[in-house]
Amino acid sequence: MLIDILTLFPEMFDGVLGTSIIGRARENKILDINIINIRDFAKNKHKQTDDYPYGGGPGMIMSPQPLFDAFYHVLDGAPETRVVYFSPQGKTLRQDIAQEYAKIPHLVLLCGHYEGVDQRVIDRFVDEEISIGDYILTGGELPAMVFIDCVCRLIPGVLGSSLSAEDESFSKGLLEYPHYTRPQEYEGLKVPEVLLSGNHKEIEKWRKRESLRNTLKKRPDLLIDANLTLEERKIIDELKSSKI
Ligand code: SAM
Repeated sequence: MLIDILTLFPEMFDGVLGTSIIGRARENKILDINIINIRDFAKNKHKQTDDYPYGGGPGMIMSPQPLFDAFYHVLDGAPETRVVYFSPQGKTLRQDIAQEYAKIPHLVLLCGHYEGVDQRVIDRFVDEEISIGDYILTGGELPAMVFIDCVCRLIPGVLGSSLSAEDESFSKGLLEYPHYTRPQEYEGLKVPEVLLSGNHKEIEKWRKRESLRNTLKKRPDLLIDANLTLEERKIIDELKSSKI
């Protein structure tokens, strides 16, 4: 996958995109990320990239000229390119949205700053606005990092085992089961017996039940849309009657 990031603050990406799983995916050439400084495209003498809003009001707006030229630089007319603008007004990022983006070969990500970007940029170039939640951040750089992390770990080959992503919270509409590692007992707290039994069928059963228990306890809203089997519904009823 190729990702072009348009930003006024390229240095913000250094640590996050060079480390851990994303850093390794770049090294292994599964992922190619270009961080493009919008300021490099400003044609005015002072390389200014923002201006006062028409109609008055607080803050500055990112000007069309540098952004139009930055887009002309990264867009090659390929139909499989998708342009995302990070905005609190966009669709809230969820795992199923990330799964769709993980299939796209070329993403162009626009990070806004100040009061946002001139609407004509959005109208001309943006396919979708994505929000990372109902709150206001200073800029689109953190949302871009969240989006890249979330999308890229779903690209085949990025995670050590493709199964790790399949099992995680949200991937099947439920939260995941609890995890334990060595030692078997720590300060009197024990690992559930079944996980030590080596009985894979029983471990699967336990994990299913704990996943349903977790979802019922922490995010019962997810159960409304979850595609549950008859057996899973029975477990939910049992958990409800035993007060979880
Ligand atoms: N004036 C804008 C509004 O009310 O919709 C908010 C501008 S915000 C201060 C500056 C930039 O941060 C936005 O252009 C956007 O790129 C980014 N941003 C802020 N909050 C965000 C969120 N929750 N999700 C995604 N991007 C966000």
